Amino acid sequence: LDIKRAYNFNAGPSALPLSVLEKAQQELIDFRGTGMSIMELSHRSAAYEEVHNQAIAHLKDLMSIPDNYEVLFLQGGASLQFSMIPMNFLGEGKKAGYVMTGSWSEKAFAEAKLFGEVSQAASSKEGKYRRIPRLAEIQFQGDEAYLHLTSNNTIYGTQWKEFPATGNVPLIADMSSDILSKPVDVSKFSMIYAGAQKNLGPSGVTVVIVRKEFLEKANSNIPTMLKYSTHAKNNSLYNTPPTFGIYMLGEVLGWVQEIGGLEEVVRRNEEKAKVIYDAIDNSNGFYIGHAENDSRSLMNITFNLKSEELEKAFLVQAKQEGFIGVNGHRSIGGCRASTYNAVPYESCKAFSEFMEQFQKQNG
Ligand code: PLP
Repeated sequence: LDIKRAYNFNAGPSALPLSVLEKAQQELIDFRGTGMSIMELSHRSAAYEEVHNQAIAHLKDLMSIPDNYEVLFLQGGASLQFSMIPMNFLGEGKKAGYVMTGSWSEKAFAEAKLFGEVSQAASSKEGKYRRIPRLAEIQFQGDEAYLHLTSNNTIYGTQWKEFPATGNVPLIADMSSDILSKPVDVSKFSMIYAGAQKNLGPSGVTVVIVRKEFLEKANSNIPTMLKYSTHAKNNSLYNTPPTFGIYMLGEVLGWVQEIGGLEEVVRRNEEKAKVIYDAIDNSNGFYIGHAENDSRSLMNITFNLKSEELEKAFLVQAKQEGFIGVNGHRSIGGCRASTYNAVPYESCKAFSEFMEQFQKQNG
């Protein structure tokens, strides 16, 4: 293959491993001797079911998901989870706590308000979401239906390093932008959810990992498709699942296994993020990191330049040099490099060199 791969720092959908794309290309027209594309197979066929079940098994294996958890493949993005969670677990006389660490937490909180009593267990909004609240700042009463947090804040570039112990209160995490980026103790959570389009595969699939005992507490008087139990009882085959996306997700998981699992993934991610954070830290204030040091994300590196003018010039030049997606989120501006699992070290190194070069020319 003689193609130039972009330096892809998109925040989502984002880079996929080249080997996965190549395999998908190879299998696109004749999927494993069926004479059909995976997209043309019945979701009730044995060939598809194998792909489906293998993706679930790979995820259980990679994340060491205990047996008392269900892995579900849903649609509607992580955004639908903002509504499905309170719809299933809130209601008359129930309350929930939300830790506010950015725009996605705010969106989740706003949806939950529609279904029950919600409170902010902690918030770092005052400091422009530059940090993750300290564990001691998190306040809840102990009788909440759940406590919700966003493990990685895609827009602000902050990430939890340690999760709160919530005792009897079920902990739910939106891991959309850092799932599978490092080992995580799944047993601390009653539920984890993530849109696939950053570390897991293409958009269109949402992964939900949920403890079976927690599912038993869910409300039953809600629409069938919006009940977790519907999907749990049917192995996520109640209706037609996004088959191509699930196939791709399974292949991405296979790639993670091949390169050495989550221990190797986190080693790579730390190395990649460091080379860019170093460019910020060694710039004498030319680049200004948004996140406080101990809250820095390994997935989304956010920074500003001294003036808006300089920032504009930086972004224009970055684009000319082939660095894709380094504009900050449209809601806050600035710059952001997303260094998800499939972004190679070489891209991060090239970007850090570009940052140094730009500073030399403009500092
Ligand atoms: N949560 C987080 C942390 C995200 O980064 C995003 C999207 O970027 C979402 C939720 C929304 O995901 P979706 O677009 O799959 O609804």
